[in-house]
Order: sequence, then structure tokens, then C-alpha cells
Amino acid sequence: MKSAVLEKIDAPLVIGNVELTDLSFGQVLVKVLVSGICGAQLQEIAGYKNNAAFVPHLLGHEGCGIVENVGIGVTKVKKGDKVIMHWRKGDGIESDFPTYIYKGKKIRSGKVTTFSEYSIASENRLTPVPQNTPEDLCALLGCGLSTALGTINDEAQVKFGESVMIIGAGGLGINLIVAATLASAYPIISIDINDNKKKLAETLGAHLYINCKKEKIQESIQKKFGIQDIDVIIDTSGNKKSLEGTIQFLSGTGRYILVGQPRPGESIELHNANHFFLGEGKSLKATQGGKFSPSKDIPRYVRLSKAGILKVDGIITHRMKLEDINKAIDLVRAGQASRILIIM
Ligand SMILES: [Zn+2]
Repeated sequence: MKSAVLEKIDAPLVIGNVELTDLSFGQVLVKVLVSGICGAQLQEIAGYKNNAAFVPHLLGHEGCGIVENVGIGVTKVKKGDKVIMHWRKGDGIESDFPTYIYKGKKIRSGKVTTFSEYSIASENRLTPVPQNTPEDLCALLGCGLSTALGTINDEAQVKFGESVMIIGAGGLGINLIVAATLASAYPIISIDINDNKKKLAETLGAHLYINCKKEKIQESIQKKFGIQDIDVIIDTSGNKKSLEGTIQFLSGTGRYILVGQPRPGESIELHNANHFFLGEGKSLKATQGGKFSPSKDIPRYVRLSKAGILKVDGIITHRMKLEDINKAIDLVRAGQASRILIIM
């Protein structure tokens, strides 16, 4: 089968022939239909996840597929089921790390992998969905959209009419706009450094889009909405300057949530940190996937989408083939794309 292999840190992925191995206890063979690309894979490629020792390695952690075969012990899914592939743990067996053969040697993947035609996944990284669930929605619910919904609803606990500022209008930032809209946040402010994200951000529900290279954030917000501070700020960029430059905008009950991760070893400074004690006490939190709980959350998100309440149109900006995955990764890295779907 064809897979995109991380052979070397900080180098393009290699599209190579990878052989499957026999399924072990709790493992499931999935024919991958589509995969998303997430910031986490960019970090793995850069070697920011302490992963240099594991290369060559297989990547990808949000996708949709069809179950081809199940290993001993698997009861949650059966052959023919449509499944969402996710990195967060759901119900079911936590299997050993899947192994594959590449260039005659054994290589590993995470407990799920999606940049491949087929994937061996741990039972608890798969959640079955009705057959008519759209593949786009399934892939988005594997990580980006579910992380966004969990971050807004669970981590930030956004109340109706609270102001939400989302830094970065990439794959995750766009999903966060959708989630904040669902929570009736107002205003929703999207910040990025590219003008080309403006239209999509506004279409999906942002009430103001600020290119922070050209406009001053606080002045723009004050001018349009007459408010000084923000209830919830979510950073998807992982850029230390972004946190240092915006944390003082938090309201007295404000919550600052980090979804993007700073580089390993990097320090962040809280300037004039005294403001953190104004009001009821502000909070700063790093989230792990918005506390997304696949077995509990995916069924209700799929129902919301079927009812037309959760709308995902427009989130996916590009569809590309596995052969073109390096081009897709370059687009994400350059801030030129929102969510890209790899079609297997
Ligand atoms: Zn992800």
C-alpha cells in the first residue's frame, strides 16, 4: 500500500510502499477514505514532539475509513463499518503500537495513522458512525472540529454573548469560529496575518477579522464594538509573541486557552502580570484536544450536523491526493489553506 513516510526530520514526506503486518490484540485494519492534515503533523515533521528517535514513522491522526478486518478482542466495530479515526482515546481496547514493514525494516505508527491507503488502528481510536455520515464531516470530527467544539464548550465554557477572540485562522482557527458561532458568542474576532483568510472567517461567522500586521487589535475592537476587553482568547498559533501581545486584553473573568503549542524549550513572559488579578481572577490554560471525548462527543456532533445546526460547509478549502501531500503541507505551513483533505 502507499503511505506518506516521515523518513527524516524536517524533510518532505516520502510516498513509499509500506507492507501491513498481522493484526494483534485490539487492532483494526481500516481502508482510509480521507484524512485531514493537522498542526500536530507539522510539529512531528519539524521534530518538535520528541519524535526524532522514531523515524521512519507514519503520520496523520484525523480521518474517515471503512473497517476491513478486526483483530482478536475487538467488539466495537466490524468489517464494513464506517469509522471516524481519532487520536484521542475513546471506548475499547488500547492496543500495542501498530507496526508496518518499510524497505525491509519494521516501522511504527501512532495508535492510529491516516496518511496511508490502509491503517492499523487501536480499537479505542475508532468510532463507528452511520454509513450516510459525510466523509468530510467524519475527517473533521477526528481532530480539528472536535477539538474546537470541546475548547469552546468545555474548556472555555463560553456563555451566550461572551466575546471570543481566536488567534490564527488556519485549520483549527476556522473550526473554532464555527464552534463559537454555535455557542452564540458575540463578538467573534478572528486574527491572522493573511488577508486571504478574511472572507472565509467572515462567512463562517467571525464578526470582525483583523490582519494584525496591518491593524492594531485593541483599537479595531474598540472602534467596531465599543468594548475594551475580551472574555475568551484562544491561541492556535503557538507563537510566543501572540500570547505576550494579547493576554492583557482579557476581561476580569477572562479565560486564555492555548491550543497551539510553543516550541520545545521556549519561554513565554507575562508582561505587567499584575493585571491577572483584576476582576475575579483570570485563567491561562493549555488544552489537550479541547478535552474531546470521542465515544461521548462524536454521536452528538453527528446528530447536530444532520439536523443542520452544526454547519461545516467551507471549512475544507482544498482536496488533494496522497501523492501531493507535501504540496498540501507546504500550503498549511505558509498559511495559505484552512483544512485540507487528502483523498486516498
Ligand atoms: Zn490534530
